[in-house]
Amino acid sequence: MNQRTGEEARERVRDATDIVQLIGERVQLRRAGRSYKGLCPFHTEKTPSFTVTPDRQIWHCFGCSKGGDVFAFVMEAEKVTFPEALRLLADRAGIELPKQDRGGRDEAFDKLYQANALARDFYRASFASDSAKKARGYVASRGFEEPWLSRFDVGWAPEGWDALGKALAKLLPADVLEQAGLLVRRGDGSGHYDRFRNRVLFPVATGSGTIAGFGGRAIAEGDEPKYLNSPETPVFRKGRLLYGLTVARAGMRETGEAIVSEGYLDVMRLHACGFTNAVSTCGTALTPDQARLLARLHVRVLLLYDGDDAGVRAAERGLDPLLEAGVDVRVLLLPGGEDPDSFLRQEGAGPLRERMESALDVPSFLAEAATGAGANPTLEARVRRLVQLLNRVQDPIRRRLLLRRGSDVFGLEESVLIEAVQGKGRGRRVMAKPAGVAPAAVPAAPSGAAPETGSGASEEESSPTDPVERELAGRVLTEEGALAELIAQGGVICFQHGGLRQLLQPWIEEGHPPRDEELERMMAQSPLTRALLTELFLEPGKAVEVSRREARDLILRLEERRLRARRHEVRERLMTAEKNGDDPLRATLSAEWDDVNAKLRELASKLETKRSQAA
Ligand SMILES: [Zn+2]
Repeated sequence: MNQRTGEEARERVRDATDIVQLIGERVQLRRAGRSYKGLCPFHTEKTPSFTVTPDRQIWHCFGCSKGGDVFAFVMEAEKVTFPEALRLLADRAGIELPKQDRGGRDEAFDKLYQANALARDFYRASFASDSAKKARGYVASRGFEEPWLSRFDVGWAPEGWDALGKALAKLLPADVLEQAGLLVRRGDGSGHYDRFRNRVLFPVATGSGTIAGFGGRAIAEGDEPKYLNSPETPVFRKGRLLYGLTVARAGMRETGEAIVSEGYLDVMRLHACGFTNAVSTCGTALTPDQARLLARLHVRVLLLYDGDDAGVRAAERGLDPLLEAGVDVRVLLLPGGEDPDSFLRQEGAGPLRERMESALDVPSFLAEAATGAGANPTLEARVRRLVQLLNRVQDPIRRRLLLRRGSDVFGLEESVLIEAVQGKGRGRRVMAKPAGVAPAAVPAAPSGAAPETGSGASEEESSPTDPVERELAGRVLTEEGALAELIAQGGVICFQHGGLRQLLQPWIEEGHPPRDEELERMMAQSPLTRALLTELFLEPGKAVEVSRREARDLILRLEERRLRARRHEVRERLMTAEKNGDDPLRATLSAEWDDVNAKLRELASKLETKRSQAA
């Protein structure tokens, strides 16, 4: 794009982005006079020095001196370049960025949005007119009233073939209205007719509130189809939009969750019943684009669908894109044949809220869903599906939590699931330890607490892949209790990965984890540190005892894993020794075999007590 349109785009996107809302999705902000304050997401701190000033559309941290506009925030928070940040925010605001050598494109898009805005105004006015009695009657009979009708811009497309065409004829050329999907060209080429006739209309807006298209509900008996959407146009791409998003933003921010259902009426009913964080997918299965949109809003998702076969399938299909996008998801299926609208009309908000409390996480959903009529997958098929889904989860900690939950729900050993996941993983498989590398052979860590040098090179070689090692390392860097426990358990020897050993050794020698400033410097210089800390659930104020106990649990798990690998190795060598008739070697290995097994049993009983204590 040339410089001028580039700057224009930047201005438009900045104007369309509410900086408090954007940052508020990540940082808990409190109003302080004309600005907002919160804990800086870019450095570790306990008292807020991070401020957002909406008047000037800027943010600044007095602790780490980072700051800038909305683009700078996204670049820092998402670790992306400026063009990527621009694209992310443009997507979020529903602004189409001009592309190089396509000077006319921007204008064409504006025309379509303008056509939709004019149509929305026309349909709104029609809905209020005398001739709309039936439409208002229909809406009232479904129990909808103000302020929801206004809030969702509900309109009416009059009967007849050319009401909209006539009304907008002087404002925009017919071919623009046709391109916007509002008019349809007659078969004989003699002009156009209205696409929507005698229907209640629900405008579908982009994230920033620009109207992209419409969904229309027939109100006359026998009018088919019951629901008619705008066709796909350059601005109406159903798979990238969520109905109700602009209205639901505030509710999502408050609850940290988005309720996703399928229909327009469901969304309006949910809002009217106090579930103001509801959106819908315009009648289709959830797409990867919609999942990424939800991920960018930093919300959990509750899929709320009809419990009939179609609903179960839709919920099931939504899991892949959501887990892939890193969204935490639960599922609530209503009794067969009930959608959120009909359920709420019959039962009211209370019973729905109760059911939401017990919405199913992914493993439970897979274990329980579709056990009624119709498809009833075998246990094996369900577990395979879980493994497939686990492989979509990028975040190691979330994956591990789901895995642990899956093993509980299905009554399977975690190790079985881990093996299945690693077997089909995407190269995340934990590398087998090369035979004969004793812990003592690991290079000595750099002396002194000087983490700025030395750690870089070894990080580059290969980043640690074991999620348990990564989590433990992250905790050791941020929790005194975890560091103390690591020292008590033998120090860096607990880690297999050389880079992690090197990173942690100086702090073990220091006897305390890095202080805020030191941690900041490490994060600036070491991508590994940065990665470890972003993966971590930070729980400020955790008691040292709790921290020690959790770290000990992680260390025991690592030890268990190492012993299992060792046992596997001994077994291989034993078999070779037996084949070769090498009796002395066989005797040594047999003793080692018993020894490893004894240690594993001891460890298992320790882990067992831990689990039963926790339960
Ligand atoms: Zn800061």
